[in-house]
Amino acid sequence: MVDGSGCVGLPGLVDCHTHAVWAGSRAEEFKRRLAGERYTDILEAGGGILSTVRATRAADLEALATLCASRLQKMRRRGVTTVEVKSGYGLAPEAEERLLRAAREAGRRAGIRVLTTFLGAHAVPAEHRDDRAGYLREVIEDQLPRVAELADFVDVYVDQGAFTVEEGRAVLEAGQQYGLGLRVHAEQVAHTGAAAMAAALGATSADHLERIDAAGIEALAAHGMVAVLLPGAMLYLRDAAPPVARLRAAGVPMAVATDLNPGTSPVDDLWTCATLASVTMGLTVEEALLGITANAGRALGRPDLGVLRPGAAGDMVLVETPPGEPTDPEALIQYLGPPSIRAVIHRGRIVEGRC
Ligand SMILES: [Zn+2]
Repeated sequence: MVDGSGCVGLPGLVDCHTHAVWAGSRAEEFKRRLAGERYTDILEAGGGILSTVRATRAADLEALATLCASRLQKMRRRGVTTVEVKSGYGLAPEAEERLLRAAREAGRRAGIRVLTTFLGAHAVPAEHRDDRAGYLREVIEDQLPRVAELADFVDVYVDQGAFTVEEGRAVLEAGQQYGLGLRVHAEQVAHTGAAAMAAALGATSADHLERIDAAGIEALAAHGMVAVLLPGAMLYLRDAAPPVARLRAAGVPMAVATDLNPGTSPVDDLWTCATLASVTMGLTVEEALLGITANAGRALGRPDLGVLRPGAAGDMVLVETPPGEPTDPEALIQYLGPPSIRAVIHRGRIVEGRC
């Protein structure tokens, strides 16, 4: 039995976009960027994502699973019961496989539902710097067949400085051959048309979207795709907001996720992201709460997640509102940072909290 008096009950939260499996630290880089150094210069000198790739490649399965599990445990204590975890810091066949194995093992250890996404097309690794075509071939011909059994989705990072729309399409189509769901990092740094490309292929979500245009929004709406908004990355990159009013007007469902990663979004708290999505992007309270529950489930192609109804996953969180506030949903989003959690129920079982 759980005493839920004074609490708001919500479906277990769903974080539908994270890069939660990595090793190494970017704290030094954080300091340098605050001091005014440009990310592109840091990257040029072998830092940034390339330093995370080096540290992650050097870590064994056990070390990666331990690190990822502790990140997931912290999320579960805050009411998150499902997390999508991407690979993409291995960028080589064996290393990508190790990351996806570590993510699934971390989910088992943390007692949290993990859906995995293969993101071999996250960046071009240093050793392929002058051979992009060769790296793309490796992703499609070597990495993908090796990891297909370990992944639920395939994702590509299509943007200026990353992969092109055509390269992204080739990877997504190859993933589709293995029965993987499709998702895409799209329209973040520059408008490329990636969202419309992924929509035409049947992707479940397009993520970031700060620079999506009218045609892209139309494509998301026409194909029933979810727009995944990532306010942590927007904050750390001091970027502009995605066009929320136009997404809303087109009827595109919006999800909100942490984008947890050590570089551009070192944010592990989904509640903070919901508040930031309201305050900095203009989501309503209802949209923000749907964004971290039902619409996040839809972004993962799982309408049984992030909802409370017969036949659904059986995940629930009991949340205490801040002192003096009413037990209304708006009181959960109004304050920045995680609220007090009374209990977390996962697959019908109480896994966290007082009872
Ligand atoms: Zn991401």
